[in-house]
Amino acid sequence: GTAQIGVTGLAVMGRNLARNLARNGYATAVHNRTAARTRALVEEFGDEGTFVPSESAEDFVASLERPRRIIVMVKAGDPTDAVIREFAPLLEPGDIIVDAGNAHFADTRRREKELRERGIHFVGTGVSGGEEGALHGPSIMPGGSAESYRALAPMLEAIAAKADDGSPCVAHIGPDGAGHFVKMVHNGIEYADMQLIAESYDLLRHACDLPPERIAEVFRGWNQGRLDSYLIEITAQVLAHTDAETGKPFVDVVLDQAEQKGTGRWTVQTALDLGVPVSGIAEAVFARSVSGHADLREAARGLPGPTPTLLDSAAYDRFADDVEQALYASKIVAYAQGFHQIAAGSAEYGWDVDQGRVAAIWRAGCIIRAAFLDRIRAAFDARGDLPTLLIDEHFSEALQGAQSAWRRVVSTAAELGIPTPGFAAALAYYDSLRAQRLPAALIQGQRDYFGAHTYRRADRPGTFHTLWATESREEVTPS
Ligand code: NDP
Repeated sequence: GTAQIGVTGLAVMGRNLARNLARNGYATAVHNRTAARTRALVEEFGDEGTFVPSESAEDFVASLERPRRIIVMVKAGDPTDAVIREFAPLLEPGDIIVDAGNAHFADTRRREKELRERGIHFVGTGVSGGEEGALHGPSIMPGGSAESYRALAPMLEAIAAKADDGSPCVAHIGPDGAGHFVKMVHNGIEYADMQLIAESYDLLRHACDLPPERIAEVFRGWNQGRLDSYLIEITAQVLAHTDAETGKPFVDVVLDQAEQKGTGRWTVQTALDLGVPVSGIAEAVFARSVSGHADLREAARGLPGPTPTLLDSAAYDRFADDVEQALYASKIVAYAQGFHQIAAGSAEYGWDVDQGRVAAIWRAGCIIRAAFLDRIRAAFDARGDLPTLLIDEHFSEALQGAQSAWRRVVSTAAELGIPTPGFAAALAYYDSLRAQRLPAALIQGQRDYFGAHTYRRADRPGTFHTLWATESREEVTPS
């Protein structure tokens, strides 16, 4: 074989990854279950580089130089297993299968183990950036063995997005499912970020009677500062867009029910299993869920709320500044929670993930790319075992500067009856972590009262139970 790398699965994502590889000078073998896609790729884009098309799995494998490098870009789930079943018998020890689809990390761990026993490297790889990213440079999060990463690194570095300092947005995340785990958390953070931005819009929309295109200007202004990010940029564009058919603002004609493909849900499910409080991400998933319950919303629409009050323009400018601060502070919390989950996953599965490198490869190519990620990279580079981003010097100062505005925004939202589950959850998390005492002590008392679940004391070691049903309420130490 002569092709240096192959791609099987040539729908939008696979086709664009193959083109990206070919444009970077790699002879790229291409294959798809339905051969028409393979032919269409070569017909339309054949002049972009060297493509080696095959219609059968056998020919595809034979067209590759060894060790073979095969990127699988098919629909996640059963199709991935089907493709592995088809290709694995044709491969030899040392060959590498890269699964670049959106697999659940637990599936990736299972597949990696099965293939490792047959001497085949399986590299579950997170890819973010959508179809444009796949073509022009995504953020790439490979798991799998260090050995397989060495064989892939030059190609992945060539096709990856480049951060402002020129470094490619790809790094070996860790063994087996580490790459897909980190991609999953990336998507969870993406949900939280989008929800916080949406709440900001909702507040600005209802606090004053301004059209969406004026709010787009506010977002464009924010994008010049510390909130500079892809999601803020596209938010401004969406808000400024007018529906061609009705001439109304686009956001006013779209059905207000947010859909989801499931990676946010996986993040929260996994966080619950690991015992990591990702409340901001969870609220974002729940907010989409609430929006989708049309019948429930219809039934409850008549419930009483406060009388709406509008701000005058001077007050509006101050409020918009407050919202910017609340958004920045809440965003810090969302990322802190996501990175906590990465640290917890890394500890649970023995991945040894370098959080600074994760932040570094999210700086470009992916959906959550933002100037802010360079700050996160710096925070973890300065202290690899940072318990939470919130206590990093830069972020704790930012939170200190933002907290009054943040509190005003959450209380104003409550007074106006505007739902801000993301802002409120983020603030509650911040206040919980910094609290001297939490009412968890009372909960321990309740648990001990009804279930004899015991408690520990703050003043001395041991496990205790109070005999609540007795007159004396004596404290005992259960054996
Ligand atoms: P789809 O998820 O729509 O999958 C279509 C591809 O899967 C086609 O090539 C199809 O082949 C192939 N396929 C489906 N079932 C089988 C099967 N049983 N055996 C062999 N091939 C099969 O394609 P996308 O390009 O949208 O996404 C590819 C992957 O990338 C997915 O895992 C998706 O989750 C992920 N993705 C990632 C994004 C990102 O931003 N990172 C964005 C979008 C997707 P055929 O033509 O024969 O039907």
